Amino acid sequence: MDVAELIIRQKEYYNSGKTRSLETRLHHLRVLYEGIQRHEADILGALQADLNKSEVEAYMTEIGYALKEISFLMKRLPSLMKPQKVNTPITHAGSKGKIIPEPYGVTLIIAPWNYPFQLAIAPLVGAIAAGNTAVMKPSELTPNVSKVLARIMDELFHSDYIAVVEGGVNMSTELLKQPFDYIFFTGSVAVGKVVMEAAAKQLIPVTLELGGKSPCIVHEDARLDVTARRIAWGKFINAGQTCVAPDYVYVQQNVKEQLLRELQKAIQEQFGVRPLENQEFVRIVSERHFQRLASFLQDGTVVVGGETDASRLMIEPTVLDHISWDDAVMQEEIFGPILPVLTYADVEDVVRTVNAHPKPLALYVFTESEQVQQKIVECISYGGGCVNDTMYHLASPYLPFGGVGESGTGSYHGEQSFRAFSHYKSVLYQSTKWDFKLRYSSSKRALKYI
Ligand code: NAD
Repeated sequence: MDVAELIIRQKEYYNSGKTRSLETRLHHLRVLYEGIQRHEADILGALQADLNKSEVEAYMTEIGYALKEISFLMKRLPSLMKPQKVNTPITHAGSKGKIIPEPYGVTLIIAPWNYPFQLAIAPLVGAIAAGNTAVMKPSELTPNVSKVLARIMDELFHSDYIAVVEGGVNMSTELLKQPFDYIFFTGSVAVGKVVMEAAAKQLIPVTLELGGKSPCIVHEDARLDVTARRIAWGKFINAGQTCVAPDYVYVQQNVKEQLLRELQKAIQEQFGVRPLENQEFVRIVSERHFQRLASFLQDGTVVVGGETDASRLMIEPTVLDHISWDDAVMQEEIFGPILPVLTYADVEDVVRTVNAHPKPLALYVFTESEQVQQKIVECISYGGGCVNDTMYHLASPYLPFGGVGESGTGSYHGEQSFRAFSHYKSVLYQSTKWDFKLRYSSSKRALKYI
């Protein structure tokens, strides 16, 4: 496909104004909703083929989630599209101020492989709702989902409006040279920098949804059984290949042993005594990622799991004890089913240590103490997170989702997806009925009115 030609066609289509009315946007969101429902079996099959995702997990975290985003935004679209009237100061007497959301125009969505359907569709929902056209580039590491996305979008929409471009780094690089009006990127920190640099050359606004090492803090007063269940679920769903998975546990040292016992119990309850025999456990996406993760098993002491099956790219849910900040597993985002456990003496320790690292995408703190909750939430900068849970913040359409600093810039989900794909234009509507001469004067007397 000639990418430059595609963008020219999308610009023409956008400039025709056909993407802009409320009725059109609602119609296209409905088309998308029904199209996903019709192709549910194909999507589930592709997710199974690419990642061994079970139907239940795939529906919950990918298809069902995408459908909910569409219906949530459809209900709110009429009010989101309305220009907002604002006050004007006394110096502007007679005029009116309005903030008017307008679409950016032709947008680019680059998606990763870990939730390859949902992370392509959720931004697309924002793009359509806000009145844009979109080019989507799914990940080459999940080729079945990429193909299904291309086929569905081709069936539902004309490519002048919504197009899927398949390919890897070369295709992404080519796309990033095009004069898009807005870029929405989800992926790694390293590639986020490449995207931002390319966007800067043309001053294209970007949203970057990146990753990083998300801490999971467990204070001595936490309810350790519930805590362990919620950590095990958040860490090992999708085999740990989740941007907001707890990357490591940071537990107060006096309750570490008890937490380890509870974690072992929770993992067995949720994934079985022999997780590698569990047909529904998600596999690691590629040989390269498998090798990278397997090398972390050398660090510290394995206290739960530790077994691997290279032929099926499977790694057991694994917990590592006796880990130090200098170990390899603590030098990069793990993005797999390996959970290192580190200890702290007091909360001041936690604040100092976490703040000395790049700002994480998510942070979780388990404690019954309101003071500790407040200290962690107020004194550490991170994208978002939960108190006494993991990952659930991401699934609330009322909470904007995104990172800060190295973990990203901008946010989306729910109404925020509309806002992310809109430019808010400020317009002053002035009256010509009267005209105070004073405003044109440069005398000191006039200045006191300004
Ligand atoms: P990645 O950065 O390797 O790839 C993401 C996309 O960028 C893919 O479509 C890929 O083809 C493209 N790409 C790769 N190299 C490129 C280059 N040099 N130039 C231009 N495009 C390039 O990320 P991934 O491995 O697919 O996904 C895992 C990462 O994504 C993790 O770091 C994870 O935390 C992050 N992530 C973040 C979120 C979020 O919402 N914040 C969600 C999921 C994943």
